[in-house]
Amino acid sequence: MTPIIDGDTAFTKKTKKALAIIKKSPEKYGIVLRYVKAIKQSDQIEHSGMHCPNMTFLVKMNTYSSSKYWYASSIVHDAYHSKLYHDYLKNNNDGDNIVQGVWFSDGSMHIYNGETAESIYMNSDGYVCNVPLHIYRGETAESMCLNFQVSFLEEISKYKWFLKWHIKSLMKSRWWEKSVP
Ligand SMILES: [Zn+2]
Repeated sequence: MTPIIDGDTAFTKKTKKALAIIKKSPEKYGIVLRYVKAIKQSDQIEHSGMHCPNMTFLVKMNTYSSSKYWYASSIVHDAYHSKLYHDYLKNNNDGDNIVQGVWFSDGSMHIYNGETAESIYMNSDGYVCNVPLHIYRGETAESMCLNFQVSFLEEISKYKWFLKWHIKSLMKSRWWEKSVP
């Protein structure tokens, strides 16, 4: 299903354009349709990022106001974060690991079935599951997502000239260590 676009008129227009560009690559577009449920304008967050449990790409102005090709490639990049998360969940959980719980502000978790989970993550509906963070965040995950993004940009023949430099400086900055969206 086409992702739900949640934002103002300008955001909606830019996002539709970006999705139309992604459509030029059937493989990447298929991944976006499968792993991105919503694309949401989010100007308050530190940087754009995928909220993996509910497949929502939160997009800050510097991302959606950049070139439509770059914005399209960002959606492809973040769709891959969601893919890493949900593929792990599908392959490693039979459903028993998704339990309902309540997350308290002190970081503690109360799980209704009385069991504890080693690594838990909660979505907006209050469900937790145990996808380890390194599966979908951190250096290895970012490298995979960037490769996917690069391969998309190569497919649509944009940005070839500056990609190598840009990707290298992105990995050098280790931005994923500064904050987790
Ligand atoms: Zn990323």
